Amino acid sequence: MAAPQHVRAAPLARALRATATATATASVPVPVPVPAGIKSQGTSRRALLGLSEPQLRQLAIDLGQQSYRGKQLHDLLYKSRAKQIQEFNHVPKAFREALLGAGWSVGRSPVHHAVTASDGTTKILLKLEDNRLIETVGIPVDDDNKGSSRLTACVSSQVGCPLRCSFCATGKGGFARNLQPHEIVEQVLAIEETFKHRVTNVVFMGMGEPMMNLKSVLEAHQCFNKELKIGQRMMTISTVGVPNTIKMLASHKLQSTLAVSLHAPNQKLRETIVPSAKSYPLGALMDDCKSYFLETGRRVSFEYTLLAGINDEKEHAEELAELLRMCGGGYHVNLIPYNPIEGSEYKRPYRKVVQAFVDALEARKITVSVRRTRGLDANAACGQLRNEFQKNPLLEIEPSPSTERTLVAA
Ligand code: SF4
Repeated sequence: MAAPQHVRAAPLARALRATATATATASVPVPVPVPAGIKSQGTSRRALLGLSEPQLRQLAIDLGQQSYRGKQLHDLLYKSRAKQIQEFNHVPKAFREALLGAGWSVGRSPVHHAVTASDGTTKILLKLEDNRLIETVGIPVDDDNKGSSRLTACVSSQVGCPLRCSFCATGKGGFARNLQPHEIVEQVLAIEETFKHRVTNVVFMGMGEPMMNLKSVLEAHQCFNKELKIGQRMMTISTVGVPNTIKMLASHKLQSTLAVSLHAPNQKLRETIVPSAKSYPLGALMDDCKSYFLETGRRVSFEYTLLAGINDEKEHAEELAELLRMCGGGYHVNLIPYNPIEGSEYKRPYRKVVQAFVDALEARKITVSVRRTRGLDANAACGQLRNEFQKNPLLEIEPSPSTERTLVAA
């Protein structure tokens, strides 16, 4: 399909090409037989994690077993949380050997390091099969009014990110490759095991741009919903804006929230904060957000990082209110006072400046919330912890047993 005229080939197009190339060359696939109905995932081993019960039943049949063995695999993966095929004691040895012989693995990665803040927020580094590190964050919230507690998983969708937003530690660390569906799913399992609590909410807001790895994100989303029983409405997919992908996502009619990282009320300022915005004019982005709301009935959340002296003035709030009017109804603004990262020139705005921004929006009938700063935000922004351990994410690191499974209080 021809690209719409408003989309120019520019930095984002280059980033998309880089994503495709890096993913193709990230690992050298060793061909293994893939049973009918299960697509190749492009890694040297096939991961069972992420597969549905019907797919696992089919796999059992393809390997000469009865269908109910697939149901047993499903329980082992999602209830018993087995990490290796050798732990599948409920199935015959011959089946375990057939799985291993056909190149299958569970698809779980070890925890390389974890940091817990005083408010309980825990950042976990997982070490993938190719020794690359990804971050995932568990955020516990006690809802005193309802007497319940929630656990939100903030999951990564790529190793690094090609988009290089100016305030982001992940962008500064470069891009290595897209994550496979099981590498997204296992992040939620790692958080549940760390907290010994069910994950109730998932936000695709960790490392990477989810829309540049939409296929894997959608497969992981389906697994969270169907296999881990996390409601679609409890999930949020975020994007900084990648041309032609919001409409694609809308066509799936998910009942999940779309969070669009705006960070500026006009194109000129946005391009200085989000360089990839050069390829996606603000008017076109807002049109696509409107379509998402009309198609799904789900309101769009606009994320706006407040950077002192850059985009936090009353005039910016007024311009933002005007821009949102173009979107019709069905939106919400989430303000995020910036947390400085090492080497960044940006500063956090004063509280009274944040309040003035809120007041200006509310005076124009815009629903707005200010994201509460969690403990880890202050000393380990998204991507910062990974960058500490892996200065060059494009190189493989040597395994270091001394750093495996360390839990450190921040
Ligand atoms: S803010 Fe998101 S899209 Fe931008 S560089 Fe960071 S991870 Fe990538």
